[in-house]
Amino acid sequence: MEISYILNELGEDRENYFNAVAPPIMQSSNFVFKRVDDLSRALRDEMQGYLYSRGLNPTVEMLRKKLAALDGAEDCLVWSSGAAAIFAGILTNVKSGDHIVSVKAPYTWAQRTFDVILPRFGVTTTYIDGTKIENWEQATRHNTTLFYLESPNSWDFALQDIRAVAAIAKKKNIVTMIDNSYCTPLYQRPIELGIDLSMQTATKYIGGHSDVLGGVLSGSKAMIKRIFDSEYLNIGSGIQPFNAWLLIRGLRTLSARLDRISNTTKEVVAFLKMHPKIEEVLFPFDESFPQYELAKKQMRGACGLFTIVIKTRKREAIVKFCESLKHILMAVSWGGHESLVIPKCCGIAPIDFDPGNKEHRYIRMYMGMEDAPYLISDLEQALSLVE
Ligand SMILES: *Cc1c(COP(=O)(O)O)cnc(C)c1O
Repeated sequence: MEISYILNELGEDRENYFNAVAPPIMQSSNFVFKRVDDLSRALRDEMQGYLYSRGLNPTVEMLRKKLAALDGAEDCLVWSSGAAAIFAGILTNVKSGDHIVSVKAPYTWAQRTFDVILPRFGVTTTYIDGTKIENWEQATRHNTTLFYLESPNSWDFALQDIRAVAAIAKKKNIVTMIDNSYCTPLYQRPIELGIDLSMQTATKYIGGHSDVLGGVLSGSKAMIKRIFDSEYLNIGSGIQPFNAWLLIRGLRTLSARLDRISNTTKEVVAFLKMHPKIEEVLFPFDESFPQYELAKKQMRGACGLFTIVIKTRKREAIVKFCESLKHILMAVSWGGHESLVIPKCCGIAPIDFDPGNKEHRYIRMYMGMEDAPYLISDLEQALSLVE
């Protein structure tokens, strides 16, 4: 299916709403029935029709069709945040006594699920360096039911060989789930590489304007039906119609925005690599990146997120750089129109800051929709103030 068709037409039935180009927001909690038999059928299986918007909703359906097609998946569910999608995807695939193998340092709220919530129910997690394929095999136990991947990671961009990890899991009957937020399905299609459940936050590139949260889980019809009947209806954190509508709007320009952002990022990364005050730039599509070959093999593109290390041992110098940027804003998140910076040290108590640990000196940059020269001059003036 062509990307243009998915973003502009799939799932839309304009004759049903006055031939309006933009879809309506079906802001209704419940749906009316004329016959008891029809109501009975809807109650037996909520996936068969509109009953109550905690289950299906027409605006959300339109979005579901588009996002499943983008992932090359049979079906998907859209959640009120990426964290909700992560939680449900993990929960569905474990029971008391089970074991998970996860990449080390996954997204914060995946890690909290593994470290804080699941141990209360007797589910344990082993973290591995997922860049080495043999680690997956070695960490697997008789009770392992889930492999959790995140490729690339959103701080150091560590990759996993997705096809190889999925193949190991298939042999052992282990479910695979990946956080594909960095790439979006436009730049990486994990389902085609053999992954069972592909998750992405829609808050970042799908929304694209820093005004909506959402999360996606894509997979087989059977897997998605199982999640729908249980976690989706039970937790009740499906996306709301208005937010679904904003995400549909975001999809219209997704491809154009990603093109723009990856071109800008290339220019900015080239500038930073030449800069005398920069020690290192971590970016998966840079030739110096340790897993560059794998990145080129399994990713179609790399977007606006990368990490820099400034030549300094001082926390104050990092703080000075971040606070001196005039147009690049300091905030969490990424994927919107606005360029962002966030230093790793903001999550480390100053007394624990260890300049010998390079990770403590990481500064994550996100390039948005501004012109490259505008961003470069901002970086240049902030770097000039760093001692
Ligand atoms: C932001 C983010 C999420 C979570 O998404 P929310 O919509 O904020 O809940 C998950 N994974 C990665 C890599 C993210 O950056």
